[in-house]
Amino acid sequence: MGSTVVETDRSARVEVEGVTKSFSGETVLDGVTLCVEPGSTVALLGPSGCGKTTLLRVIAGLESADAGTVVVGDRVLTGPGTFVAPEDRRVGMVFQDWALFPHLSVARNVGFGLPRPERRSSPRIDESLRLVGMEGFADRMPDTLSGGQQQRVALARAVAPRPSVLLLDEPFSNLDATLRVRVRSEIHDLLHQLGITSIFVTHDQDEAFVLGDRVAVVSEGRIVQTGLPEDIYERPATPWVAGFVGAADFVPGEVSGSQVSTLLGRLPVAAVDEPPVAGGPASVLVRPEHLVLEPADDRGADGAAGVVRTVEYVGRDTVYVVEAGGVLLRARELGPPRFAVGSSVRVAHRGGPVRVFSDDRVDPD
Ligand code: ATP
Repeated sequence: MGSTVVETDRSARVEVEGVTKSFSGETVLDGVTLCVEPGSTVALLGPSGCGKTTLLRVIAGLESADAGTVVVGDRVLTGPGTFVAPEDRRVGMVFQDWALFPHLSVARNVGFGLPRPERRSSPRIDESLRLVGMEGFADRMPDTLSGGQQQRVALARAVAPRPSVLLLDEPFSNLDATLRVRVRSEIHDLLHQLGITSIFVTHDQDEAFVLGDRVAVVSEGRIVQTGLPEDIYERPATPWVAGFVGAADFVPGEVSGSQVSTLLGRLPVAAVDEPPVAGGPASVLVRPEHLVLEPADDRGADGAAGVVRTVEYVGRDTVYVVEAGGVLLRARELGPPRFAVGSSVRVAHRGGPVRVFSDDRVDPD
């Protein structure tokens, strides 16, 4: 990677407020509000078709909004009576395929979006290549580069015009699994070095958590939760978010004060911003990594009696499905299986405070 140059004057705050967009009467964005701090990276995480790309396109000016505003820095780009053309927004966009022009050298690719006199040679081309650690490659042709190098050049091309904001649409979807993991951590470092405000779209939870300083979870055209990755995972706003960002099972509970009684015993209730379930019946989120299994005849074991229904060993850890108190629960532990299907076990909760939801919020599916 190139030497670090943090040019915070480049970055700007992005404020999206109440953006609504329909296609043929179908609402695709339903009052989206999102704020991205200068120089930070937000991951828009959501299932296919929830409106992530449409939101990026509205920010880039490639789509108009039916209502709402997009403000970058102190400039209103989209708003009542205002629509700044995409080329005047100083918003860079990197698409899924990061495609380079095959007949142009690396330097010409990077210069492509610059004013005409600067396209063949300019300090901005050199600077951008240096930032992505590709300064020795200016005269190479794209087909002589590795996949990861091509992506770095595509990133250099996106940042060369010095956008205030960089938008990335599923930037790693075309890479194989190994390259994807390597490139995403390189790009993560690079975005931080650049200090550029960036928003990227993904439906991959790992990717969102690794790359996003903050994660905005999108469902059916709405942002249902925005927060640090650990907030989203530990304190999901809804049962749907809990299940979308990880394996989530629910056990019935009875809340009393700061504790909840469940078949796994009495557990402390996690503090959340919204009013907690005051008392009475609730659904309690249980993650597989928070459950431990012990042999049923282990005298010291606490928790609930259960029977192992399935065992999946994936080479590093084992996931069991255990039936306890009429509920199926997943339990994950490191290493090869210790219990066979049909084993009687005790299942106990070893996580910290648990997230509880009022019963009417848990989808029966
Ligand atoms: P994916 O992860 O599959 O790319 P996404 O969350 O990015 O999905 P969008 O591409 O924003 O979703 O699309 C949201 C919905 O809007 C989809 O139902 C899509 O078919 C619809 N849509 C998007 N663009 C248009 C358009 N130009 N005309 C009509 N419908 C559109």
